[in-house]
Amino acid sequence: MSKNIGLVWIKDDFRLQKNLALVEATKNHDQVVAFFLYKRKKFEDQEAQKWWVSKSLQEFKKKLSEYNISLEVIETETYKSFFEKLFKKKNFSIYWNKTYEPNYLKFDSLLSKNFDIKKIKFKIFKGNILNEFEDVKKNDGTPFKVFTPFWRNAEKIYIEKIPPKDKKISKCIKKISFFRDTITEKQIDSKKKWYKKFGKYWVPGEENALNELKKFVKDKIENYSDSRNFPNIIGTSKLSPFIKHGQIHVETIWDECNRNRKNGASKFIAEIGWREFNHSLINFFPHMLKGNYSKKFDKFPWQKNSKFLNAWKKGLTGYPIVDAGMRELYSTGWMHNRVRMIVGSFLVKHLLINWKEGEKHFRNCLLDFNEANNVSGWQWVAGCGADAAPYFRIFNPILQGEKFDKEGKYVKKWVPQLKDVPIKFIHKPWELKNENILKLGKDYPKPIVNHEEARKKALNAFKKI
Ligand SMILES: Cc1cc2nc3c(=O)[nH]c(=O)nc-3n(C[C@H](O)[C@H](O)[C@H](O)COP(=O)(O)OP(=O)(O)OC[C@H]3O[C@@H](n4cnc5c(N)ncnc54)[C@H](O)[C@@H]3O)c2cc1C
Repeated sequence: MSKNIGLVWIKDDFRLQKNLALVEATKNHDQVVAFFLYKRKKFEDQEAQKWWVSKSLQEFKKKLSEYNISLEVIETETYKSFFEKLFKKKNFSIYWNKTYEPNYLKFDSLLSKNFDIKKIKFKIFKGNILNEFEDVKKNDGTPFKVFTPFWRNAEKIYIEKIPPKDKKISKCIKKISFFRDTITEKQIDSKKKWYKKFGKYWVPGEENALNELKKFVKDKIENYSDSRNFPNIIGTSKLSPFIKHGQIHVETIWDECNRNRKNGASKFIAEIGWREFNHSLINFFPHMLKGNYSKKFDKFPWQKNSKFLNAWKKGLTGYPIVDAGMRELYSTGWMHNRVRMIVGSFLVKHLLINWKEGEKHFRNCLLDFNEANNVSGWQWVAGCGADAAPYFRIFNPILQGEKFDKEGKYVKKWVPQLKDVPIKFIHKPWELKNENILKLGKDYPKPIVNHEEARKKALNAFKKI
């Protein structure tokens, strides 16, 4: 057992299960301190995340305490400036799990070099992923650009590898503190009223993530293939914010699905596969984090229209399914996948606004925001991503509503102004023409664009590239 202190850098891995860095640190050291680095600037455009992170730190601190491990939160301008100060300290070894974003992985290499030079013991572990992305490539060594063959290979590789059994964290002898000038998790949580309601919908934490997974596999996974499309019912797992913050490892999800072997499990696991695919894409093609994966879209004639953009953000477009989605996002920090596709398509195709504006808004509002899924999701919708929906396939928000929210229950939940509108008109309230039920333009906006005209305009714009 080393006399040094074991430090563990916690990033998006607020869990005890399958946390290799924590296991190794507690195996090697009697005294372990975990730390979280809070970069205020990073969270400026990820407001919703502050709420989740603050609550997660609170919960994880308690859990780690039971193992005599403290969790210290340090505010820093940059990771680099924090580690420059840390290099000056002695008597510690350091451990962390990978975060699969190009900047983090680049930083891992820089840190490795510096820790080597300073002769400080460090170890980096596999993070929250099934396969290391470098392991899943075509026979010719190039990365996959299409999901289906990617996933066929990735699944095979994962199954053949048989990941090691989960090792338990050991209890440390004594709880100590290591850093000065720490802050509390409460200092991260914002005073904004906006996410006061999030607590009504979510309880961040590992225990809850594991319970949610169990309940989903027991009661819902069998119907997942169908019910995942209907935003009015809870047909999906709603695990995304927990996965994002590492409160559950995707290997745990895989194991639970395999143990139960129910219908629907392979469809569900394939969605985890999309997450793997997106992480592979952003790491092999990092240019897509800044712009279009497909370069021909660099010439696309996007329009700047702040009136349209604001109406979209506020859920005031006059298209009920779009507005319901945007209001669900604002109120709960989450939006159903089907509706993410509908609102996304509406922004880039009906309003001709650059997908980057949508990506930015989602980044700020989503509790499950992660670079890989958000950027890829948006480029899938816009048609400029790898294996994306073709641009010319334009979602009709009326038909999408009628198909996936037949009785308008989802719409009525999030747009209560439409609660008395008969089903026949719920996805096209402008046809109702009964002011006793709905005063269009007063109770609820008139459509900001006409669907058919917008569709033609979008197709013409597409011809330009
Ligand atoms: C425009 C757009 C933006 C998106 N932004 C994000 C984002 O920032 N973060 C995020 O996690 N997902 C994002 N998604 C993907 C998807 O909408 C969410 O993962 C899903 O809605 C989360 O709900 P769930 O946990 O109930 O999903 P489930 O259906 O229960 O799926 C289980 C898990 O699989 C993964 N998953 C499911 N669908 C997808 C998908 N289409 N692509 C990649 N992974 C998927 C998620 O980790 C999810 O938690 C985006 C999709 C679109 C169209």
